[in-house]
Amino acid sequence: MGTMARLVVYAAPDSAEAILNAAERVVHDLDARLTAFDEDAALGLLNRRGRESLEDPHLRAMLEAADSLASMTAGAYDPTAGGLVTLWGFPHAPAVPESSALDSALARTGWGERVRLTSDSVFLDEGVRLDFGAAAKGYAADCGYGAAMDAGATAALLEVGGEVRCGSAAGFGREWTVGIRHPRGDGLIDTVRLRSGAVATSGDYECFFLSPSGRRLCHIIDPATGWPARGAASATVLADRCVVADAVATALVIGGEVLADSLPAGLVRAILLVRVKDGAAETRRWGEWRASRSG
Ligand code: AMP
Ligand code: MG
Repeated sequence: MGTMARLVVYAAPDSAEAILNAAERVVHDLDARLTAFDEDAALGLLNRRGRESLEDPHLRAMLEAADSLASMTAGAYDPTAGGLVTLWGFPHAPAVPESSALDSALARTGWGERVRLTSDSVFLDEGVRLDFGAAAKGYAADCGYGAAMDAGATAALLEVGGEVRCGSAAGFGREWTVGIRHPRGDGLIDTVRLRSGAVATSGDYECFFLSPSGRRLCHIIDPATGWPARGAASATVLADRCVVADAVATALVIGGEVLADSLPAGLVRAILLVRVKDGAAETRRWGEWRASRSG
């Protein structure tokens, strides 16, 4: 996934190392399977062949999560946007593509029409390329956190590329504080507190370039138009699982307030959206964060 991971655990001193190793193994293993950059990894093979069995439990889990999250975010989260992301040249050499190339990449985008999941296999239409970049970090945080707790941690926080999953064993109740980056500055725009769950943030500041007219063009692509997202400067999501928080945060950078208002009840616990107008940041909150500055 080309990113950093950080794990904090509370545990008996003699078990700490085994817990750290267990979580690290899981995150490395997922990184190897779910990267879109390695053609011989599980996802790379699927993209190359256009079909794959669902024997790999992590590939299956990512595809099943993608299937429900694509529909619950009204198509904003869509791993078939992989072809568009590549066309735009993210992350290494981004540039505005030719409109004919954009049209043909759009014709290969659309989870509902171009991906078929059966009970034991997945099939992609010709030329479709999946990209799990918007949810794989969250999924890895979930799995690594689970491994740490299974290995005997009393409490753990695992952050993978900024996406956080944390919690405690019953009766411990550690409260964690997570800072949310300001989308236009170096500092934090807020901090949130939680005992257990997941917090993920996406934004137009992570990877972007400016068009000749000064428009900010970021690495999150709206699958409906083929153009970079403009729904929010950043979106932070609190959910029980980090794969959900991660995918929904990315979707909200595209869909903004309209999507936040229309997400299915119970999918996420809270949302913080940041919009930037004339250089000033405006925030709006939903769910558990609606009433207070910090949840
Ligand atoms: P995140 O940092 O979690 O917001 O993920 C951003 C990454 O997700 C991008 O770098 C792309 O690899 C991928 N991506 C871009 N647009 C979409 C989209 N509409 N749906 C799913 N993945 C996307
Ligand atoms: Mg994401």
